[in-house]
Amino acid sequence: MEKNEWVRELLDDDKFHDECGVIGITSPGQKNVAKDIYFGLHSLQHRGQESAGIASNMYGNINCYKEMGLVQEVFNDDVMSKLPGDIGIGHVRYSTAGGSKVTNAQPIVVYSKFGSLALAHNGNLVNAVAMRNQMEDEGYIFQTDIDTEVIAALIARNLRNGTIEEAVQKTCRIAKGGFALVMTMGNKLIGVRDPHGIRPLCIGKTENGYILASESCVFALQGAKFVRDVKPGEMVVFEDGEMKSYMYGPEEYRMCSFEYVYFARTDSHIDGVGVYQSRREAGRILAREDKEDTEADLVIAVPDSGTVAAIGYAEESGIPFGEGFIKNRYVGRTFIQPTQEMRELSVMMKLNVLRENIEGKKIVMIDDSIVRGTTSVKIAKMLRDNGVKEIHMRISSPPVAYPCYMGIDTPDRDKLMAANKTIEEMREHIGVDSLKFLPVNGLKSCIGLGDNICTACFTGDYPVELIDQNYKTNKLFNDDRMVGEYDDIHAEDSKPTL
Ligand code: SF4
Repeated sequence: MEKNEWVRELLDDDKFHDECGVIGITSPGQKNVAKDIYFGLHSLQHRGQESAGIASNMYGNINCYKEMGLVQEVFNDDVMSKLPGDIGIGHVRYSTAGGSKVTNAQPIVVYSKFGSLALAHNGNLVNAVAMRNQMEDEGYIFQTDIDTEVIAALIARNLRNGTIEEAVQKTCRIAKGGFALVMTMGNKLIGVRDPHGIRPLCIGKTENGYILASESCVFALQGAKFVRDVKPGEMVVFEDGEMKSYMYGPEEYRMCSFEYVYFARTDSHIDGVGVYQSRREAGRILAREDKEDTEADLVIAVPDSGTVAAIGYAEESGIPFGEGFIKNRYVGRTFIQPTQEMRELSVMMKLNVLRENIEGKKIVMIDDSIVRGTTSVKIAKMLRDNGVKEIHMRISSPPVAYPCYMGIDTPDRDKLMAANKTIEEMREHIGVDSLKFLPVNGLKSCIGLGDNICTACFTGDYPVELIDQNYKTNKLFNDDRMVGEYDDIHAEDSKPTL
C-alpha cells in the first residue's frame, strides 16, 4: 500500500467524501468580513480538510489567501489583517491525495479589464474536460487542473458581452454537472446552484447583510436567520443590502441524497429537510424491515456517521441503544511513514471497542454506508475479538455500486464492494451474521423529497449525461455541441424574478 493510500484510509473511514464547502458573506459597512468567513469555514470543515481559502473584496479590489491545511492552521491574525473588505467568500476543500496541492485550492481569482472576480465552487462539472479542451484549442492557458478555473475563465470571457449577471448565467447554462458557486465582483456577492440542485446552497440573513453557505449549520454561529435554499437553476445577487433572484435554467430537481446519508452536518437543514430527522427515520425504516427476524440485545453505531440512524433503529425496535465504540477525535493528518503493523491497526487508531458494553451480546450495528468495505471488515473483527456473540450489520443507505461524477470523491467502480459482490458475498467477506441495507424506496421515504433526489451512486441513474466520461473513454463527444450551446445563449433571456 502506498503511503498516500494509508493516510487516506486512516483519515477517511472508507467513506465517500464531499469535495468542498463554500461560504459567501456581504455585510455593507463592515470592513473585516473575512473574520466572519473564517468562523463560517470552521462550521464547514467537515466538508473538506485539505485546504482552506478566503477572498475578500474591498471596493472591487480582491485579496485572497489560501493554503493547504485545516482552517485553524491556514489563518492567523497576520493573514486576516491582509483580507479587508465588506464582501468575502471562503472555501474548504477535500481532495484525493494526487490532486492535493495549493494551486488547486480555492477561491480562484481572475483579473480582467472588466474587474477582478473571485470564485469558489463546490461540485464537479461533467463537461469540464470538453470545455477545457476547446478553450485550450483557442489559446487559453490554465494554471490549475480543477474545473473551477474553467468556470471562472468562461465567466471572464462572457464579460466581454455583458454584465456579470449575464456572464454568470450564460456560463452556468453551458456548465453541466453538480455545482454550487459563490463569487464576488465589484460590489456584488453572487450565488448559483446547478440546474438540478444537486449540490446544496442556502441563504441566511444577518443584521447587516446576507450569507450564502453550503449548509445551514453555518448560520447559528453568525447570528444569522435562515432565509431559504437557493433553488435549482437559480442565481442570487446581493448588492447594497438587497437580494435579487434570477432563474437561469432550472431542470428536473435531483438533490444529492448522500448529503442526508453522510456528508451534511447533522444539525443542517437542506431543501426543507432536517438531516437529523432523515437519518433517524432511516434507522426507523431499517428497524421496521427487521421486526420479524432480528433478535438482539443492543443497538450500537459506528461513530459518528451511524449514530443518529442507530438511535432511530433503537426507538423503533425497542432494543436499547448503547455505545460499542469510543472514537478518538484527535487523529489528524500524519506524515510519518507507517509500518505494516500500524496499517493493520489503522481502524484502532480511530475506534476503541467498549468491551464491557458488548461482550457476550447479540448486536445490531448501524453504519451509514459501505464503500470499499475495508473498514467494515476490521470493525467486525474488533467486535468478534471482544466477545460479541452475533453481529447484525445494518446500513442506513442502499448498496453503493456506482461512482459519483457530480462533486464527490469516490473510488473507481471496481473498488466498490457492492459493485463486485452480492449482499450475501459482502456479508461473508465482512464477517457478520447478517447484513441488510436501506432500500432505495426507504431512502426516498426518509428524505421525503420523493423522486427529486439523485440516487446515482446506488442505482446508476445519473441526473446528467456524463459527457467527459464519454469524451475520455469513447471519444463520442462532439466539440461542436458546446460551441452551438455557447452561441445560442442570449443573456436577455434571463429576467430578474424578484
Ligand atoms: S451520485 Fe450519489 S454522491 Fe453523487 S450526487 Fe448523486 S447521490 Fe450524491
